[in-house]
Amino acid sequence: MPEDCVFCKIGSGQIPVQPVYEDEEFVAFRDLNPQAPVHVLLIPRAHYPTLMDMQDPSLMGRALQVVQQVARDLGLEEEGFRVVVNCRDNGGQTVYHVHFHVLGGRFMQWPPG
Ligand code: AMP
Ligand code: ZN
Repeated sequence: MPEDCVFCKIGSGQIPVQPVYEDEEFVAFRDLNPQAPVHVLLIPRAHYPTLMDMQDPSLMGRALQVVQQVARDLGLEEEGFRVVVNCRDNGGQTVYHVHFHVLGGRFMQWPPG
C-alpha cells in the first residue's frame, strides 16, 4: 500500500472512522467535507488509484451492491441519490484511491458544473 494514501490508512484501520458500512473488502464512511446532507464515500480496502485501475468485474459488481446497501441503510432509496466516481484531472479527482461518492438528502442539479 502506498504509504501516503489516506484511504489506504482508513481501509486498514490506521486512521479510524465511524463506518457506515464495512466488510472484508470495503469500507463506507462520511465525507469530511460533505456536499449534501448525506455524503458517504465507499472505498475498496485494496489500493486502486482510479476507477480505470479497478478492473475486476466481480469487485465492481460488489462495490455497486454495497452502494445499494448504503443507500437503503441511510434511507435514500425512495427519494433518490447520486453516485459519483471522479476520475483523474478532468473528473476532479483529488484522492488517488478509487472511491464512490454517495450523495443524497437534497435535489441534485444536472449537468454537474
Ligand atoms: P475526489 O475529489 O473525488 O477525489 O474526492 C475526495 C473526497 O475525499 C473529498 O470529498 C474529500 O472531502 C474527502 N476526504 C479526504 N480526506 C478524507 C478523510 N480523511 N475522511 C473523509 N473524507 C475525506
Ligand atoms: Zn490507497
